[in-house]
Amino acid sequence: MKITVIGLGYVGTVAAACLADAGHDVTGVDIDPGRVANLQSGRVPIYEPGLQEMAQSAVAAGRLRFTQPDDFEEPLGRVALVATGTPPGGGGGADLRQMRSALAWVREQRSWDTTVVMKSTVPPGTGERMITHELRGSGICYVSNPEFLREGRAIQDWQHPNRIVIGVALGDTGSVDVLKAMNVGIDAPRIVTDITSAEMIKYASNALLATRISFMNEIASLCERVGASIDAVSQGLAMDPRTGGRIYAGVGYGGSCFPKDVRALDHLALTSGVSVELLRAVITVNNRQRLLPLYALRERFCGAISGLRVAVLGLAFKPDTDDVREAPALDLIRALSDDGVLVTAHDPQANESARAFLPESVELVSDPMAATKGAQAVVLMTEWEQLVDADWESIASGMCPPRFVFDGRNALDAALMQELGFEYTGVGRGRTT
Ligand code: NAD
Repeated sequence: MKITVIGLGYVGTVAAACLADAGHDVTGVDIDPGRVANLQSGRVPIYEPGLQEMAQSAVAAGRLRFTQPDDFEEPLGRVALVATGTPPGGGGGADLRQMRSALAWVREQRSWDTTVVMKSTVPPGTGERMITHELRGSGICYVSNPEFLREGRAIQDWQHPNRIVIGVALGDTGSVDVLKAMNVGIDAPRIVTDITSAEMIKYASNALLATRISFMNEIASLCERVGASIDAVSQGLAMDPRTGGRIYAGVGYGGSCFPKDVRALDHLALTSGVSVELLRAVITVNNRQRLLPLYALRERFCGAISGLRVAVLGLAFKPDTDDVREAPALDLIRALSDDGVLVTAHDPQANESARAFLPESVELVSDPMAATKGAQAVVLMTEWEQLVDADWESIASGMCPPRFVFDGRNALDAALMQELGFEYTGVGRGRTT
């Protein structure tokens, strides 16, 4: 099948590579000339395990190419897969301008045999509006096919999704067949529904996951106060299958999806005249969580943290990605810097993407030893394997007393850290000095 992928960010690049890998003939289109030039020369401009190799071999096999919209000179594919960004807009709603301009471009191509497959996360009601206005009279079919991949395991998630959601206009069985052909080789449970419900499934999924995280973080705060262990509590909770699997307490969720999608759902509720108090609480708890290390440092150093040397390990919003969008570490570092803390930071992949979002005074270094050398405290913000398994004994010897460690992901072995001479604090684990 001939497929045009529009928008080559985290989702679009993975989609283009995986679809080509599955045997389709794929052209990826992006308005960012630098991004397209990189892809054309074999460099995938994001860090995602396995993606560079997969894209390169699909290009070599002649099934994948990249271009800018203005240089696009072929007929549009049977599928125009839209994976443009839907960043937060003013007032908390989603900014749909990228998606609208992508649809306008699709329309300009004057293809009568194309189905738009909307992978971008768009607020419930958007698809129906696009059909009635932007695509009216174009003959172009529209399918909502929300994407659930997780950065860091995106290829695996694309090839083995836990579900395929297909939202189509009433009676549009042709588009369901197109989607089936596009997903050839993928064996996953499917739900076919109307467009608005498909869009809501995506938002509700993200909001529910965010809610579970904020809930666990609230319980962690309570554990801290009453002397319970969040590790045991979350393990015990997860034994009941109705609770939906294990959730870990920590410095909160981040990334390009949960924060903006929860806010967009809250905004949709507001503009629809519905009150969803729970979502507000989820956001408030999450905003607080990312500053827990700051509160802990203030408490440990009796408020005198100006001039303190603190190492922050992990900048990406999660391990195995260089994505720093809405990463908790960035908010924390900005708050620490405002309080006069001297921050040195390190991330295995995200130093470069984080630079533009950090105060100039923050030093970014290439390894955890360099980040922690001479520091009185260290904060783990992202549970990269190489940070969790770093040589903490050497780190301890390079640091200055009191060697305070705030484990923002409850990923370190508290007892071992104490043995090595650290003052250890986790989230809901109590302080163990
Ligand atoms: P991104 O910001 O990384 O990429 C968007 C790309 O679209 C950019 O390269 C941009 O230059 C390009 N673009 C913008 N306007 C364009 C146009 N008119 N024509 C062609 N290209 C255009 O975004 P992303 O993280 O890949 O997310 C894409 C969508 O998928 C969003 O709606 C997001 O919410 C959703 N989503 C993301 C993830 C994730 O993990 N990143 C997971 C599931 C769903």
